[in-house]
Amino acid sequence: MPMHVIYGGTFDPVHHGHLRLALEVSERLGNVLVSLVPCHIPPHRGQTGATAAQRLRLLELAIAGEPDLRIDDRELRRGGASYTADTLRQLRGELGINVPLAIVLGTDAFAGLDRWKEWQHIPELAHIIVVQRPGIILDPDGDPARLLVKNAAGSAGALHGCAAGRVLKLNPPWLDISATGIRDRISLGQSPRYLAPDSVLAEIQHMGLYGACPAKNF
Ligand code: ATP
Repeated sequence: MPMHVIYGGTFDPVHHGHLRLALEVSERLGNVLVSLVPCHIPPHRGQTGATAAQRLRLLELAIAGEPDLRIDDRELRRGGASYTADTLRQLRGELGINVPLAIVLGTDAFAGLDRWKEWQHIPELAHIIVVQRPGIILDPDGDPARLLVKNAAGSAGALHGCAAGRVLKLNPPWLDISATGIRDRISLGQSPRYLAPDSVLAEIQHMGLYGACPAKNF
């Protein structure tokens, strides 16, 4: 069975930074399917601006027609706080012990890995693909940096050869876009155009999310 790759996030809202990264990862691993996994309640941050159902709707619009991306809404269906260890354990149960499973994390997320629930089990369950985010430097004495050095995968191909445990560092072009920046622009009445797909922005406006005025075009 081909490698299974998941890319989790709040996606509040999904934007071109997320989408480009997902495609870059897919290509660099040999056109594998990448599943975007919206979280239900993110454990490490406050309330989301859009509901789970609204964030899912925006994701569906964003990936429409893209064959290498799909959505896995298991964390939304599971409800409660979304812990990556639970998601990986569930997936591992479905895939069996031999299928390579990988999770994509930006360096901002990876830097806080040692605060995640059962984080030590994560490398037993999956590979980790760490994507460099500009300006984020890992503490060289911290557990995430140590894990990266100890389990480093020399190439993307190495991830296909075993089921879990390798850490691959990738440095694809990073678009300087954040969901926070988009929400802020909208709430200030500024245009968010070109930061996310038009279909996503039109739906944000239609639903009046993040303080958007449905009567006024972005
Ligand atoms: P927020 O601004 O609300 O914190 P965000 O834009 O950082 O949101 P998240 O949904 O929190 O998006 O991020 C999910 C994952 O996507 C994280 O691993 C994060 O590192 C990554 N990510 C966020 N922005 C980008 C970007 N511009 N390019 C590539 N990956 C990104």
